[in-house]
Amino acid sequence: MLSESHKQRYLRGINLPNVGEEGQLKLLDASVLIVGVGAIGSIASIYLTATGVGRIGLIDYDTIDIGDLQHQVLYETSFLNRPKVRAAQAKLQKMNPSITFEGYFQALDVRNALKIIQGYDFIIDTTNNLHTTFLVNQACVATGKPFSTAGYFQYQGQIMTHIPDSACFGCAFEALAPQELRRNFQGGVCGFSTGILGSMQAGEAIKYFLHRDMPHLRRTLLVNCLGIFDTQKLYFNKFLLRKNPSCPVCSKASK
Ligand SMILES: [Zn+2]
Repeated sequence: MLSESHKQRYLRGINLPNVGEEGQLKLLDASVLIVGVGAIGSIASIYLTATGVGRIGLIDYDTIDIGDLQHQVLYETSFLNRPKVRAAQAKLQKMNPSITFEGYFQALDVRNALKIIQGYDFIIDTTNNLHTTFLVNQACVATGKPFSTAGYFQYQGQIMTHIPDSACFGCAFEALAPQELRRNFQGGVCGFSTGILGSMQAGEAIKYFLHRDMPHLRRTLLVNCLGIFDTQKLYFNKFLLRKNPSCPVCSKASK
């Protein structure tokens, strides 16, 4: 049962259709790992914290640079040179003292990925780094964990979600021309585009927890599709993806 203080704190969420006190309890019992606490991770972590996802892991090897403050909105000028994970954890804990945070001041790599990812219910990859995204994809498929990945290039954003048995990032990457997946920091970073991605990724995790036992789960998530938007040209398109039977990561033959 929800405590009185939780009922008051989360009332606006509880009142939403398909949430209720039962839904809020599901969120409080859930855990999310956010890989990368930069532009996208700032916003994803703020919404997950405010919404009351009970346990949040943050992993990032980087420290805060003056140039980060233009788009990594979790950080203040006084935080310069501090590890992002430590600064994020301190700030988020103040926003919602009842959430448990776990900080990993290190890179996610082949040696630690499986172990860390296994400890969480849902993974959010915000790194905008294809190498890390493939690693998250591989570790999540291997452990049966759902995840959302997002990337950006200037004003453009890309996002997809994987749940067991849906198309994985390997399936998606094979199906698209490489230029559709441009992800890098060259030519600038658009904070309001990365903010949309972080908000959407928090939403994917929250909807997963609310609907994971229900038959309509797939319809509520960006599974088997890649969402691509551009805030300058003002479009949002969904490209349908099929599971690739010869995907090197998720096909039965690869196991
Ligand atoms: Zn695949």
